Amino acid sequence: MYCPFCTATDTKVIDSRLVADGHQIRRRRECVECHERFTTFETAELVMPRIVKRDGSREPFNEEKMRSGLQRALEKRPVGVEQVELSINKLKSELRATGEREVSSEMLGNLIMEQLKELDKVAYVRFASVYRSFEDIREFGEEIARLGDEK
Ligand SMILES: [Zn+2]
Repeated sequence: MYCPFCTATDTKVIDSRLVADGHQIRRRRECVECHERFTTFETAELVMPRIVKRDGSREPFNEEKMRSGLQRALEKRPVGVEQVELSINKLKSELRATGEREVSSEMLGNLIMEQLKELDKVAYVRFASVYRSFEDIREFGEEIARLGDEK
């Protein structure tokens, strides 16, 4: 980066260390032209895409909302908190990995269903029935039959 004092284009790092429990790198830099020193902080950019809802409105990604949706589907199912948290972390990395600034709520729903499918079939069907709002009982039965086939 440019020197903030003389805008020279070359600065050198004279010291760098981890701060904020390793979530940030603090660098001391020195300008090779004017020899002024300054500090920069480097953090990973962990921006989650915004969610585009069906009606076209946007809302920020809400981890708590996703967690409560998963928990509702997993109610009274034999799935531990740790497993749920692992799934949430997977979901978050998948969302970041898209590299998109916006993803549809439909895509988010599909990612959640994929995770639930691995965690617990019953929870998956519960979530899918609400999320996809199966048009009729027959369609719902087909989905359950399909799950049986996958075993
Ligand atoms: Zn300078």
